[in-house]
Amino acid sequence: MSRDFPAIPYPWQQPQWQHFMGQRASGKLPHAFMFTGQKGIGKRHLAMALAQTVLCSAPQSQLPCGQCRSCELNRANTHPDFMLLEPEEAGKAIKIDQVRALSNFITKTSQQGGYKLAIIEPAEAMNTNAANALLKSLEEPAGDTLLLLISHINSGVMATIRSRCQLQVMSAPLLEQSLLWLQPLIGDGNAKELLALANGAPLAALGLVSSDALEQRASLIRGLESVVQGGESPLVIAKQWMSYEPRELLEWLLKWLHGIACVQAGGNSPVPFSPLVMQFSQRLSGPFLYRFIDKVMLVKRQLLSGANPNKQLLLEELLMDWSVLARQARGGNG
Ligand SMILES: [Zn+2]
Repeated sequence: MSRDFPAIPYPWQQPQWQHFMGQRASGKLPHAFMFTGQKGIGKRHLAMALAQTVLCSAPQSQLPCGQCRSCELNRANTHPDFMLLEPEEAGKAIKIDQVRALSNFITKTSQQGGYKLAIIEPAEAMNTNAANALLKSLEEPAGDTLLLLISHINSGVMATIRSRCQLQVMSAPLLEQSLLWLQPLIGDGNAKELLALANGAPLAALGLVSSDALEQRASLIRGLESVVQGGESPLVIAKQWMSYEPRELLEWLLKWLHGIACVQAGGNSPVPFSPLVMQFSQRLSGPFLYRFIDKVMLVKRQLLSGANPNKQLLLEELLMDWSVLARQARGGNG
């Protein structure tokens, strides 16, 4: 928590923040919230902001004052009335013992005389036993307790848990709003492209700046464009693509093809395209394109089925089909 103090809601979270502050002012905060939405839009940050403000003994302009005892404890990450529940190892489950410790924490009286607050992230990391243990706490909420469950997968949490929380569905901000926030942080970087790669999630886009994701995507596009122009052989490109993680590769490809389909249908693409790809998209025949998209989805299912198919063969087949599509668009009889 110390790394995120004071947590101030992001601009796109203002409507939700005002809603929470209204609830707080009228003493109508629920015992439990569930924040759901895609990764990288700031759900945890918002939960931290709410936790710090609710714990603060004298909030200023609806934000933690930064000076009271509670704020001092939050800054030092040692507030006795705050608990963060997350997997002990990234990607692993939240264990039942952790939930029991939380239940224990909830039954005690608060040490600073205010609220007791816990954040559980990601809520879908609780297995059935852990979730059932939490359910008891949600059924008999102790006074002045606020639980903040954060979930990145809408249906990933048991319905019995979800139904006991006040649900807050959060989506990625509008592009304009994300650009206003992201552009000053990355200077010369291509904010639009990063946001497209991150499905519009601003924090996820910021995280991509230091990765080689952009270069990887550029290389994928170079391969596809080369086939479009009848340059490199599909087999050579398939070999290059072997180094990519198949799920990410195919998800990216589907998103890219979705953009192509938008342009093909006469609309705007949500992903930026080169003039070459724009022109190519406009010349494609719809039925050919949709058949190809179906094929990509099929390959994705096959690769993820766990049946251990031949990855190289599937990629070769896919890129051969892509070259047929390209021939067709170039006016050949493909
Ligand atoms: Zn304070």
